[in-house]
Parts: sequence; C-alpha cells; structure tokens
Amino acid sequence: MSRKIKVFKFGGSSLKNVENIGRVVEILRQHRDQQILIVVSAMGETTNGLEKVVAAHAKGTGQAISLLQDIRAYHLEILRRLVPDEGQEVYALINDLFVEIEWVLDEAPHDNYDYMYDQVVGFGELLSSRIIQAALQQADLPTTWFDARDVILTDNLYREGWVQWDQTIARAKQVLTPLLGEPGFLITQGFIGSTSENFTTTLGREGSDYSAAIFSHCLDAASMTVWKDVAGVLNADPKIFDNVIRLDRISYKEAIEMTYYGARVIHLKTVKPLQNKNIPLYIKSYLHPEDPGTAISGDVDVSYPPIIAIEKNQALLQISTLDFSFVAEQHISTLFQHIARFRLQVNTMQNTGLSFVVCFNDIDEKVDQFVEAISADFQVYVDRGVELITVRHYQKDLLEELVSGKVVLMEERIKDTAQMVVKTVPRLKLKS
Ligand code: ASP
Ligand code: MG
Repeated sequence: MSRKIKVFKFGGSSLKNVENIGRVVEILRQHRDQQILIVVSAMGETTNGLEKVVAAHAKGTGQAISLLQDIRAYHLEILRRLVPDEGQEVYALINDLFVEIEWVLDEAPHDNYDYMYDQVVGFGELLSSRIIQAALQQADLPTTWFDARDVILTDNLYREGWVQWDQTIARAKQVLTPLLGEPGFLITQGFIGSTSENFTTTLGREGSDYSAAIFSHCLDAASMTVWKDVAGVLNADPKIFDNVIRLDRISYKEAIEMTYYGARVIHLKTVKPLQNKNIPLYIKSYLHPEDPGTAISGDVDVSYPPIIAIEKNQALLQISTLDFSFVAEQHISTLFQHIARFRLQVNTMQNTGLSFVVCFNDIDEKVDQFVEAISADFQVYVDRGVELITVRHYQKDLLEELVSGKVVLMEERIKDTAQMVVKTVPRLKLKS
C-alpha cells in the first residue's frame, strides 16, 4: 500500500460546534491535494451523553429516549447550519442511525452491561463521521466514508476491545485498497471496531487516537497528526501548573512512558503501532494550525525538562498472606494471574517480605472484583482516592515541592522516573 497517505485525527472538541467544524474544514482545505484519511471522534460531549442513555436504559428510569432526543437535537442543529438543504442524503443517514439506536433501546436491558454500552455508545462516531463528510462535500471537498467496523476486528471484551492485528491488517488491505483510488479524502470513525460476529465494540474511552494509529499502521501511513485544542505535548498539565513548556520533539519511548503514567495528551495505546512502523506522530492545535506542535518519532536526541503526570482515582492495595507466610513467588504469581484476568493496569508496585503493595487505576468495579477474588488467600487493605504523581527526568527539589502538604504512601525512584502515591489529608483540629 502507498506510503503517501497521511492520517488526521480530530477529537470531540474540534467538532463540538459549527465554528470549530469550520476550522477543521479549513485545515483540510489546505491539504486538499494530499491523500488523507480522516478519523473522527464523536462531537463534543456526545459520548458522555450516550453513556447516560445506556445507564438510564439499564436502570429502567424511563429517561433513555428523552436523553437521546437531546443528542438528536444537538446533531441536527449543527447539521442544519452546515448543510441547509434538508433534502440531502445525510439527513436520511442520520435519521437511520437514530432509528438503529432506538431499536437497541427497545430491547430489554441486556445482562452484559458492557455489551449494551458498546451497541449504543459507538453511534457517536457514526453520527459525527457522516456529518463531517457532509460538511466537507458542502465545501467542495469530496470525501469517501467507510465503516471502521469493516476494518478493525477486536475480541469480544466489550468497552475495551483488543485488536486482532492479523485480521485487521488483512481487512484493511481488502477494504481500503479500492478506496485509496477514490478522489478526495477518506473519512471513518475512531473508537469503534467489531467482533467476528459483527457486534460493535469500543476500544476504551478516548480510543479514537488509537484507531487512527491502527489505520496508520495498516496503511503504512507517511505520518499521523492528532489535532487538539492544545499547542502540542506539554511537560505538565496547564490546568494545574504555571509555566508549562511545549516539547518540540519527543521520542516514541518518552511518549509511551508519559501516557502510561497518565499524561492525557494521547491515548495510551496510540504510540506502539506507529513506533513499530516508524511513522511520525504530530500533535498540533486546530486553533493555531500554523504552529509547529510536537513531533514524536524514533531517535530523538534531546535533553528533556522534568515531565509531570498526575493520575487521580488510584487505588493502593497492601496485600499480605493470611497465614503470615512470606509473599513469595507462588503468591506473586497467583496475584498476577488475577491482575491479568481483570486487566488491571499496574502503575507501580513494591514488595517486602510480608506484603505486596500495588497501585492500580480505580476504574469501574475492577478493584473490588480483584479484592474479592483474592480474599480467600490474602488479607487486603485498600486505600482509595489516592493520586499517583510520576515525574520523568526529575530533580530532587521539584519532588519535594510536589508532595508538600500531602502524605506520601509509597515512593519509588529509578533512573529517569520518580513515582509517588500520595493522599491529601484534611487539616485536623486538635481538641484544646
Ligand atoms: N468519543 C470517544 C470518547 O469520548 C472516543 C474518543 O473521543 O477518542 O471517549
Ligand atoms: Mg473524546
């Protein structure tokens, strides 16, 4: 397949209103002579809205349909401003998509919540990709739409589908090769895939970046660009820190480390499929497309400033054996079997003779299920709502500053990385 194609990913904020969609169309117009695959997220807060629809349906609150109406009204209002002629095909396509969602909601709630979730929430990207395609057509930028589910095959772990790479690569060749000859752009959805039985799966929240990387990998793309509302990759979250710096260039390795520890710039799984094919990744701002942004590639020889990632919603577990035997190889192996089974992300861990301490992302009921599964053999103490601070390329005084006023529950430093699990304690008043 040709190495000419570039992949552009546009996230929800860049598509949240007519003004931003206008910016996206302008960026694409500047690239009209290039072969580009556009991967879009759902518009604005649509995914959160659809999550509420599924929850209402599952709980039987009777509100699912009215919540869905709000989502429909939001999309139609934007569409009417982009494409005033309601006779255009896109109106029928959007209508059909809403009918399909209603069919799902007509059924009784399924036992498997995650399955239901994917059948409903995956529609956000189908809607946005149709609307953006129509906006591009309207701007005289011919664009061919395809269904990402015809390419990305996953297992049937709903809400976190694992990509079946061999089949996905084969399907990409089969489905996309004929489309590459079409004039203009290609457009598809981020976030969604399909099982071998053709049920929709999603790749995990914020997974559209990952989708774009999967397509880039399969198409041997020349580059991938994620268009965001920030200037590029910053060394810390500007909502928390002043004087943050934009990093001009970072290596794949640095990007993987940063995202693994919770820097929210791109989805965790995005970099690896690009790194394996040496495809450069650019993070740019759709608000200032002329700015350089950040380039992520192999062999980057720069000295990095400290890079800080703060992950909230962490659970710190202290695990010891019931019989006070050492937590030895056999125990650790049992614990890891359960960790793998619940697909818990281990952010940091330590062990002493009598205990094993591990910090996980506290998502859904996974931590509770894990604790339940090991409780026959282990005693577990869980500290919830703690934060994980990770600093790459750290300096000692910065670390002290970061934890001031907090209780450090666990700390670990290796060559380039310092990690601290901390808890903010309220000030207590001593009785006088
Ligand atoms: N729309 C999905 C989400 O909000 C996927 C994405 O935006 O990347 O999580
Ligand atoms: Mg999003």
